[in-house]
Amino acid sequence: MKLKNWFWAILGLVFLGIRFLASTFPEKTEQVYSEGIFLWIRKIIDQTLGILPFPSVYFFWLSVILVLIYFFIRLRKKDSLRNKLGYTFRAILNGTGALVFFFLILWGFNYQRVPLTKKLRLDIRPLELEEVKREIFETEMEMNRLRPQIHSDTSAFEIPWDYPVLETEVRKELEEHSHLLRLTYTGRPRTKQVPPKGLMRRLGILGIYWPFTGESYIDAALHPLEKPFTIAHELSHSLGVTDEGEANFVAWVIGSESQNPHLNYTSQLRLLLYLMRDFSRMDPEGYAEWVKTLNRGIVNDILSIRKNADRYPPISLEFSRAANNVFLKTQGVKEGVKSYQQMPMLVHAWRKRN
Ligand SMILES: [Zn+2]
Repeated sequence: MKLKNWFWAILGLVFLGIRFLASTFPEKTEQVYSEGIFLWIRKIIDQTLGILPFPSVYFFWLSVILVLIYFFIRLRKKDSLRNKLGYTFRAILNGTGALVFFFLILWGFNYQRVPLTKKLRLDIRPLELEEVKREIFETEMEMNRLRPQIHSDTSAFEIPWDYPVLETEVRKELEEHSHLLRLTYTGRPRTKQVPPKGLMRRLGILGIYWPFTGESYIDAALHPLEKPFTIAHELSHSLGVTDEGEANFVAWVIGSESQNPHLNYTSQLRLLLYLMRDFSRMDPEGYAEWVKTLNRGIVNDILSIRKNADRYPPISLEFSRAANNVFLKTQGVKEGVKSYQQMPMLVHAWRKRN
C-alpha cells in the first residue's frame, strides 16, 4: 500500500484531529485561525474569485465534474472487478478527505472559535411575554419612524433594487459597524445572485455561504424587502460567523446602526416577524388585538412578502415540515410559555446592554 495513493484521505483525517483539538481550545482557535489564517484566506479569495462577475460556484461544480471524469477514465483501465472495487473505495475516501480538508481550512474552523455571544458577554435567556411585548413596541416605533422615509403611502413597498448597488451598500455598512460586534472586517466579501430564479427558495433556503468558493449566494426571487437583510446575514458568514442565530443578529445590528432607512427598515421588519411568531404563540388573544393596531403599511409589506414567497412553494412540503419539526425540537419550544428564539433573545440582551 503506497501512502501517496491515500494522500487526501490521510489529510482529511489529520484535519479532523486538528478540529477536535481546536474545539478544546476556542480562544486559541480564535487567535490562530479566525483572527489569523482565515483573514488571509478572506483577502486571497476576495481578490481572485471575488472579483469575477458571475458566481464562482460554477468553478466548484466544474471541478467536481472533471474529477469524476478522471475517476471513470482510470476506473475503466482497471482489469479485474476486485481492482475496480478497491480503486472506487480509495477514491471515495480520498474525495471525502479532500472535501473535509478544504471545508475546514477555508472556513470550517470558525465553528470552533469563541461564540459571538460569549465575546460580547450577552446574557441570553428565554423571554417572558412582557419582554416580547416590549421588544415589539420598540421595533414597531422604529419602523413607524423609518417607513415614511422609504415609501410615501401605505401600499406595499415593492421597488426592486439595482443589485450591485445594494450589495455594495450592505457591505459598506458591515465594514463600518463590524467593530461593534468585535468582528474583524477584511477583504471585500461577495454575495452574488444565483440563477435560476426561485430554485433556492423552492429548496427552502433564502441564501447560502459556500465555503469552497468563499462567497455567498442568494436567490434572485427574494422580495425587495428581504434582500438587504439576507445579504447582511450571508456577509456575516464571510466574517467567520457560523451560527445561524448569530448571523441573523449581526445582520440586525448592522441594519439598525445604518443611516440608510431601507437597510434599517428591512432589518427591523425581519425582527418583527420573529417577535410576532412568539407573541401569537404565547398570547393568541392579545396578539389578535395588537395586530389590528399595526401600521397598515407594515401589514401590507408583510402580506407582499408572503405573496411573493407563495409563488415559489417548497419542492417537498414533507421535507420542509420535517425540517421544521427538527427545528422546533432542537430549539426546545414549549407551548405558550417563553420565547426561545435566538434572534429575539440576542436583540433583547443587546438592547438592554446598550
Ligand atoms: Zn446563514
